[in-house]
Amino acid sequence: MPKVVGVLSLQGDFLNHIQTLAELDCEARAVKTPAAIAECDALIIPGGESTTIGKLLDRFEVDKPIREMHAAGKPIWGTCAGMIILAKEIVASDQWRLGLMDITVERNAFGRQVDSFETDLPVKGIDSGDVRAVFIRAPFVREVDEAAGVEVLATFEDKIVMCRQGNLLASAFHPEMTDDRRVQQYFLDMIV
Ligand code: GLN
Repeated sequence: MPKVVGVLSLQGDFLNHIQTLAELDCEARAVKTPAAIAECDALIIPGGESTTIGKLLDRFEVDKPIREMHAAGKPIWGTCAGMIILAKEIVASDQWRLGLMDITVERNAFGRQVDSFETDLPVKGIDSGDVRAVFIRAPFVREVDEAAGVEVLATFEDKIVMCRQGNLLASAFHPEMTDDRRVQQYFLDMIV
């Protein structure tokens, strides 16, 4: 039986994630109800607008099954806005968040002049060469709590842009917008 990977489809670029997962050995599903999320082996929280995604998660009480997934050790990956939603601390913001990951993020952290850019990054745990990384109004991780088990996987210009804490994965960039599937495969390999 292929593993079921849910892509949270409240707002944002969930369709790209679903399309890229279709090329891999898993069953990708767009999910937005607690019942649908509870059936998943892993969950992706996509990029988009983190305040909007947070409000919808809160309003429809969709956070509860996500917290249960986390407690059960199932992998959860936040890309960009999804990374913001996973964070415990958001610089200068009291917006709603899941707060599962011991990281402090800063929104729109690469400035207005460079809204979007692409680069190649070495990623710890992916040894077959640099990973193509697309940044769109991206946040970065200002601080990680290493004592709590957060591991930095990638940096760009001394800024942390990818990290992992147990079954939680966060990337400031968008692997679903490239032809490179190695970060998706890394995430699928986290499913036990
Ligand atoms: N800047 C957006 C936010 O703060 C995130 C951008 C993205 O997900 N591409 O929610």
